[in-house]
Amino acid sequence: MIVMRLGRVAKLALLAGTVSTCATNPATGGHMFSLISEGQEIEMGREADASIVAQMGVVEDTALQRYVSDLGLRLARSSERPNLPWTFRVVDDPIINAFALPGGYIYISRGILAHFNSEAELASVLGHEIGHVTARHSVQQLSKQQLGQIGLGVAQIAAPQLGQFLGVAAAGLELLFLKFSRDDENQADRLGLRYMRRGGYDPREMVKVYQMLERVSAASGSRVPDWQSTHPNPVDRQERINAGVAAIPADSVGGLVRRPEYLSRVDGIVFGDDPRQGYFKDARFYHPDLRFQMEFPAGWRTVNTRQLVGATSPQEDAQIVLTAHPGATPDSAANAFFGHQAVDGRPQRLQIHGLAAVEGPFTAQTQSGQVVSGAAAFIAHRGLVYEIVGIATQAAWRTQQGPVTATLRSFAPLSDPAILGVQPDRLDVVRVDRDATLVEFARRYPGPVSVHALAVMNNVDSTATLPRSSLVKRVVGRPLP
Ligand SMILES: [Zn+2]
Repeated sequence: MIVMRLGRVAKLALLAGTVSTCATNPATGGHMFSLISEGQEIEMGREADASIVAQMGVVEDTALQRYVSDLGLRLARSSERPNLPWTFRVVDDPIINAFALPGGYIYISRGILAHFNSEAELASVLGHEIGHVTARHSVQQLSKQQLGQIGLGVAQIAAPQLGQFLGVAAAGLELLFLKFSRDDENQADRLGLRYMRRGGYDPREMVKVYQMLERVSAASGSRVPDWQSTHPNPVDRQERINAGVAAIPADSVGGLVRRPEYLSRVDGIVFGDDPRQGYFKDARFYHPDLRFQMEFPAGWRTVNTRQLVGATSPQEDAQIVLTAHPGATPDSAANAFFGHQAVDGRPQRLQIHGLAAVEGPFTAQTQSGQVVSGAAAFIAHRGLVYEIVGIATQAAWRTQQGPVTATLRSFAPLSDPAILGVQPDRLDVVRVDRDATLVEFARRYPGPVSVHALAVMNNVDSTATLPRSSLVKRVVGRPLP
């Protein structure tokens, strides 16, 4: 996806070495051991929030952001910690995900929004995440880990043999402190039920979220986030939540569901990867928004994130990473790179597909002391300087130099109007005008996703019959050019 500014990935140095205190847990009333004051907790959240926003991006839809935020704030203000600087964001992530940071920062992915079927379901997940904050789960977790440093990000594309030279610790997002224990998860569910009921929502809707997650994890090839594996099994949770709901007095079960209202809010949101932020067609990479293209070596494993686009050779002995920098020239960016004390090489000016560029081979020492060979190019295009660095082990460089250099020089402006105009798939809510099975529905309203995916996002069985005049989600979009 690659959006601006990158440089070397943010590391969150968290406030270590603080005074230990024994505090009362605001949500549970129990005593807890915490090294972190509330002020520090908020500061930790604020710093991490900046990294999350930079790494994931937020959905640019003011009405949707406000909708989620207003609901979240209403629930949070009914909680035991109403005065935290509660912040709710819809992050631009197609994966089904929701998470909370210390201090009251809560994130809902557009992927999970596409899979909810009522406002009460959204309220239950917001309530659950609020519960992690009010019970100070992440803070306790951090205390246990003695803090120290928490690295945001894992190198999905990192080739172990190449060490940390590229500083590519950015491709994935792993928030260590978001892995909660089962007990914490169950407690967050109980608190979530409490908050959604205070908001007037029907607590039974929380069960449906776990039904949906169960369908997602049952679907092979679905994009289940890591947190699923650490969260308790959705079936167990459904049972536990059912038990929690059953314990609520009969005359106070029920409440708001707001299905049509919710569906009208998510009608039209982007579904799946957004190709405007870059996409691969085999080894060729297109970035419609930034109007460039390039060709990576065939057969390499590729990755496309907001921070970088990269490729790793099948043998993991070579790697190419593209990043973008505002406010630089090819000369200044190249000087910064080649001027580094661990790098030895002499760049030259040249033109790459008509673009001003500086390029050159080099050798460099990785953090672990290993010597690698490589080539780097710095190319000016539409107000940004693109840095493309390819490296290989010294043994592999003889064979990889050709493909790496060809990749550097494949960078080119993009002018194909079909690609420049590419649009993401979007959610579309349809009111069915007669009873139809899901299969019939998919035939009448064809789209890019399978019947199975429709079943998951509508939280019904694939064999279900949709009653006349019900609202059904589908996906609309055209194949990529
Ligand atoms: Zn949780």
